[in-house]
Amino acid sequence: MRIIDLLKDEKLSLSFEVFPPKTESGYESVKSATEEIAKLSPSFMSVTYGAGGGTSKYTLDIAKNIKERYGVPSLAHLTCVSSTKQTVKERIEDIKAAGIENVMALRGDIPKELEGADRSAWDYRHASELVRELRSSDANFCIGGACYPEIHPESADSRQDIAYLKEKVDTGCDFLTTQMFFDNNLLYGFLYKIREAGITVPVIPGIMPITNASQIERAIKLSGSFMPHRFMSLVDKFGTDPSAMKQAGIAYATDQIIDLFANGITHVHVYSMNKPDVAEKIKANLSDILGK
Ligand code: FAD
Repeated sequence: MRIIDLLKDEKLSLSFEVFPPKTESGYESVKSATEEIAKLSPSFMSVTYGAGGGTSKYTLDIAKNIKERYGVPSLAHLTCVSSTKQTVKERIEDIKAAGIENVMALRGDIPKELEGADRSAWDYRHASELVRELRSSDANFCIGGACYPEIHPESADSRQDIAYLKEKVDTGCDFLTTQMFFDNNLLYGFLYKIREAGITVPVIPGIMPITNASQIERAIKLSGSFMPHRFMSLVDKFGTDPSAMKQAGIAYATDQIIDLFANGITHVHVYSMNKPDVAEKIKANLSDILGK
């Protein structure tokens, strides 16, 4: 099922994100965690793509397994910046052969050693080039793109970031998924700005339940996310108590999701990663809300 069609349903729904194992030895445990999450019947599951593409086979295997064994639509991520045209062509053929209809087209982070390098000769510099490539395939993919309510860290300002986002959407994105954020007002402001700029595709907010204090540093580094005072007080109070922090983090994410639903959003993507218990608790917290 194409995600763009799922999003037409106005009933409140959730999707979950998982990541592939780094090595063969981790495959079985990741597979079993993703299967536990699939049993929660989310409207779809996305499977990330390891930086550099070394784990691309696992991304596809996991995405295919979720779809075929559990009937959960899957969204395979694909990055392009460290790849050649030839490799990307092969990956697109692999996705098509696996029967996966939904692809999240990403640039990927610039590898440390290439930061500041002359990019003019690279095969790919921006995600929009990958979107174009996917759109030209005969597979009729449903294509997603990433967006950043707090602007992408490499962008000079939000006007420039949104102008490039519009270019990417116009190249062929069917929908956008946001980077994580911890203050819903940032999303509402962002939606206002992109709609004003003429971006009309559905935007899926991405919410990350922070379940341990060490995740926060990673989240800030990854996304530059603003941490509201209300959230930081939870961390100050419960950060050293793992089970309390987990409960507080899940409650905070649940609260964010309820507020999004109350403000007209019908679908939220949860970055619960390979943690079935977290996905399950979020779903249970919303048991009388989902499907309404
Ligand atoms: P782009 O859309 O290319 O944007 C990157 C930067 O380039 C922005 O600053 C943008 O404004 C600028 N830009 C865009 N077009 C132009 C242009 N024509 N000229 C000049 N500047 C331009 N990473 C992974 O490795 N694997 C994953 O599975 C993964 N999944 C993700 C899922 C989501 C929902 C999100 C939000 C991020 C994900 N990432 C993933 C991280 C992502 O790869 C990085 O954030 C990366 O730095 C940017 O990717 P992008 O697709 O947004 O790039």
